[in-house]
Amino acid sequence: MAFQKRELLLVVGVILITIGLLGVGLPLIYSVIISVGIYAAIKLYVAKSKKSIAKKVGEGLCALCGSKVENGVCPNCDSKPE
Ligand SMILES: [Zn+2]
Repeated sequence: MAFQKRELLLVVGVILITIGLLGVGLPLIYSVIISVGIYAAIKLYVAKSKKSIAKKVGEGLCALCGSKVENGVCPNCDSKPE
């Protein structure tokens, strides 16, 4: 439910941007292209940040030094956690 609400807000925001661009005097086709581009960029960014958060939580911390494990390897100790 919360996700759908956020999606709706995003769509409304993009529509407002389209109207704003039309108000500035930009042709409809360019306004739509820019708005769709912004929408795609936001969707991509959200998907990316969600992925990186899931990664951070999923891999946890190094048992030896306590730093974040990246790609299954501790960047500090350069060794796989047991
Ligand atoms: Zn470590």
